[in-house]
Amino acid sequence: MSVTVVGSLNEDVLVSVDRLPGRGETVVARDSALAPGGKGANQAAAAGVLGGGVHMVGRVGDDPAGDRQLAALASSRVNVSRVLRTIGTPTGTATIPVEAGSGENLIVVVPGANAELAPEDVDVPSVRSARVLLLQLEVPLPAVEAAARAASGTVVLTPAPPAPLPAALLQRVDVLVPNEHELALLADAEPGDRSPAELVQLARRVTTGAVVVTLGARGALVVPAEGPALLQAPPPVAAVDTTGAGDCFCGALGQALAGGAVLADAVRQAVAAAAASTTGPGARGALPDEETVRDLLP
Ligand code: ATP
Repeated sequence: MSVTVVGSLNEDVLVSVDRLPGRGETVVARDSALAPGGKGANQAAAAGVLGGGVHMVGRVGDDPAGDRQLAALASSRVNVSRVLRTIGTPTGTATIPVEAGSGENLIVVVPGANAELAPEDVDVPSVRSARVLLLQLEVPLPAVEAAARAASGTVVLTPAPPAPLPAALLQRVDVLVPNEHELALLADAEPGDRSPAELVQLARRVTTGAVVVTLGARGALVVPAEGPALLQAPPPVAAVDTTGAGDCFCGALGQALAGGAVLADAVRQAVAAAAASTTGPGARGALPDEETVRDLLP
């Protein structure tokens, strides 16, 4: 069983404010805290906590923030031997003011070392031989494309942050995992609420491959390459913070596919894992283990 993630590692700087600042405004924060983040690293951590056998490929700076990202991933059973250090460029950061009452936030990302990830960095055995390769778009597209080309296993791509996808990349992707907003952008459609049947139509406009659309508290819609679509509702949970639920979803999906699950079953497990992850704070505050997910499955 093996999952490799090629993607971003960030340090999240969480700043608690009474009110989000407006343009040109200064507000004084209540406090701040550092947390490990980055879409790629969050996916790797989720897969690691669920089953281990996970490799992370990416770049951090040669700085204490980089040390903290590597330590956090290693403690989530992720092999970080292919996370390279970029000398003279800081580890990526995401500064996130969070409004204390509402939980509303703003996010400013400084890519830092993530922006230095090059195609040659990803041409490594853990990418070539992984059973499942997880990709997102927080590192340069040429590196994402090179990883997809090098892969021999199942390629799962989260198109976030949203960006146009070259046809050659889409062809290499076995499972595309957008949220509703990202799917609408990829299909050149207006954002907005859509029925499952309408989402299937959009998915078919984007790719002939499998698509799994994440739907927040409604769960996820599986649109297989062939056969009928299936809506997978989440188990009942007391959600307190949905930050990073999408990343946990992908990590769990990758781990289940690597374990041999068929897509519908892997999505069932991912929906349960992502639901569990919303019951604690931050992107990695409540990553579930295998037993927690098993207990949530119908
Ligand atoms: P994020 O950017 O916060 O990681 P996202 O927009 O990429 O999220 P969502 O569709 O919001 O992705 O959530 C991903 C998955 O997490 C959903 O498909 C669902 O399985 C689970 N999830 C999200 N919110 C809830 C919730 N309130 N209750 C249960 N499960 C949830």
